[in-house]
Amino acid sequence: MRTAAAAFPDALALLDSAGRLRWCNRAAERLLGLRWPRDRAVALADRMAGSALGDLLHAGDGATDDIVSPCDAGIRLSVSSLAIGDGQRMLLARDIGHLTRLEQVRRDFVANVSHELRTPLTVIHGYLELIDPEDVPALAPVLAEMRTQSRRMGQIVEDLLTLSRLEMQRHIDEEPVAMAPLLASLGKEARALSQDRHRIVVDDGAHCDLLGSPQDLHSAFSNLVSNAVRYTPAGGQIVIGWRRTPAGAEFSVADSGHGIPAEHLARLTERFYRVSSSRSRDTGGTGLGLSIVKHVLGLHQAQLLIDSRIDRGSTFTCRFGTARLLAVDAEG
Ligand code: ADP
Repeated sequence: MRTAAAAFPDALALLDSAGRLRWCNRAAERLLGLRWPRDRAVALADRMAGSALGDLLHAGDGATDDIVSPCDAGIRLSVSSLAIGDGQRMLLARDIGHLTRLEQVRRDFVANVSHELRTPLTVIHGYLELIDPEDVPALAPVLAEMRTQSRRMGQIVEDLLTLSRLEMQRHIDEEPVAMAPLLASLGKEARALSQDRHRIVVDDGAHCDLLGSPQDLHSAFSNLVSNAVRYTPAGGQIVIGWRRTPAGAEFSVADSGHGIPAEHLARLTERFYRVSSSRSRDTGGTGLGLSIVKHVLGLHQAQLLIDSRIDRGSTFTCRFGTARLLAVDAEG
């Protein structure tokens, strides 16, 4: 068994109940930087301290999808740590370099296509705007439809470019984001979009600010607000809330709209995923809004929670940790 395991392409390391190395195979030398038999009985969590792998070992059982190898920054690993009886542990690590390269090719492709589409679309849109429907009354409805569709395509391209940028970004600018004016401007946007068809309430109970990227947070929150307006029939209510919690603070948008069937909730943040494509298209959606929200929140170490009941409404909550909160500056 040991001879066979030694030849595995994946790294395999066995730890005793005190977390000391009992044995490792050859791939563990290349992927984890271990040496056998030199490292026999070494305490692995201490050896890897400060790395993502060290955190995983401290946590006990678990798995991480994409971490940097502790011995080579160019190698990316998928790692699992499994209990195997008597407190012993097996560490398995797989080189996922080819997957991350494929992912990079996909990202570059989307970014390049979106970028290349931008200029021709701007030209088409510009010429369409120049034509006066009164000069060609017979074509007026066609012209109006062409304008709407070219605007929609432009918005899809802009959203794809925003997503590409967010995906490639590892860090965000850490700037103070004043929440009171941001909430006020979200309320204004909601009212403009709703055109008096809904009751809009802004509830600022947190009285604290955020640390992060003002543009990206504004775009994420504004996507949630625009969804709430678009998926809530006239006469409904939308509450934009900001409140403190024991673990930080939550920004939420609650509507009394159509609601979302439970089986769709897990997939809502996928690109172009829609519960009903016709409804989404009719309301002018690109299908990319919630993907943008998820990426922006990820960059702020925040989570998106979705709670929804059919015909009762939905609540989208962005949960921020205390590290992202700032006390409100009394002088504004
Ligand atoms: P879209 O541009 O299609 O609105 P999003 O990514 O913003 O794309 O949302 C994805 C899908 O989630 C929408 O097509 C819609 O079906 C559903 N959805 C989002 N927000 C709401 C909401 N507040 N109420 C009901 N359904 C929603």
